[in-house]
Amino acid sequence: MSSLVVVSKGNDPYLTAQKALLQFPLPRLEGKKILIKPNAARQACPGSGMTTHPSVVLAAIDHLKTTKADKIVIAESCIFGVHALKAFRMTEMEKVAKKSGVELIDLDHTRPTEMIIPGGKVLKKIKVSKLLKDFDFVVSIPVMKTHMHTRVTLSIKNMKGLLWRKEKAKLHQLHSPKKITKGDKELDIAISEMASVLFPNLSIIDGTVGMEGMGPAYGKAKKLGMVVVGNNPLSTDAVASRLMGLDPEDIPHLRLSAERGLGEIELNKIIIKPQGYLKWAVPFEPPPTHFSIPFPDVMVYDQGACSACLSTLLVFLQDHYSKLMDYRLSDKKIHIGIGKKIKTCPEGTILIGNCTSKMKGKGIFIQGCPPVASQIMNTLYPFSAQ
Ligand code: SF4
Repeated sequence: MSSLVVVSKGNDPYLTAQKALLQFPLPRLEGKKILIKPNAARQACPGSGMTTHPSVVLAAIDHLKTTKADKIVIAESCIFGVHALKAFRMTEMEKVAKKSGVELIDLDHTRPTEMIIPGGKVLKKIKVSKLLKDFDFVVSIPVMKTHMHTRVTLSIKNMKGLLWRKEKAKLHQLHSPKKITKGDKELDIAISEMASVLFPNLSIIDGTVGMEGMGPAYGKAKKLGMVVVGNNPLSTDAVASRLMGLDPEDIPHLRLSAERGLGEIELNKIIIKPQGYLKWAVPFEPPPTHFSIPFPDVMVYDQGACSACLSTLLVFLQDHYSKLMDYRLSDKKIHIGIGKKIKTCPEGTILIGNCTSKMKGKGIFIQGCPPVASQIMNTLYPFSAQ
């Protein structure tokens, strides 16, 4: 089946999503069970650009109801530390579920099961909610955002939110030899391997308000009034990336997913409507590559770190700096090592990322490529609830 992507523009999120969906031929879904996966994993208000706009989800449900599907649910597994009920209320997914009469499921309160990843190089299996097996058709409804670790987060990356509880962090904790990674980051390879078993059937990318810069949570809201719908999530992500001013080939998890044969990312091989869709392209500010660390008593030994680990470090310090009293060394400073060329640091340094593993005898090593901020805290304070 060829990949079809439809782009629509408008001021009203519901009408813009509806306009794209009405131009899009759905497969026969009569009697089928449909699972909708928005991005509702954080406590954020509609229009903030952080989570999916509820009106886009409502338009999707109303449209899918016309197929006489047997059942439609909204399901999400929030990021670690986020209270699901509070997130569902603040993102207004609770309101959408009530209004449309569909069930809203916190996947972390269901039983888990394992999925084997055929041919997985860095990821052999993943743990997901057992409930996924009950559904015939999965709809990914992400927000159009840049991402400090993966350049963009769109419909394929959004599927990471189907991983069960802390399994999501596992993708940040992988460490594989160079002969396997061949210069790509473990996280990007893992997302492409996850996509081979968690591949949505329909993508509806919410670009009504997206996020640029240091997404997925620390960037700036970007109002676009756009919705992108497609039958192949990889091709849909490729078109959305191009609309964000990025070449899909430069986004490692999209390139790697295409190399796994999951879909087309060459735009001239995708059917895209309307023909002049590129007039709506608006370059997104990329995640920053240079950071100044605004904490004078934090000593950073950065030698050859990539922006993914640097952004983790910045987010970690912004969120947890005040809790690091126990990790000050005799000079009363906090010492942090990062990057593949690090050669020296004092005993007791916090070493962030796989690249620092050769120094692990010198301090506290946090595995991952890149690790996430909550994982650093879990390593430093394993017994405290954050
Ligand atoms: S600096 Fe961090 S994100 Fe970059 S390759 Fe090393 S461990 Fe991975």
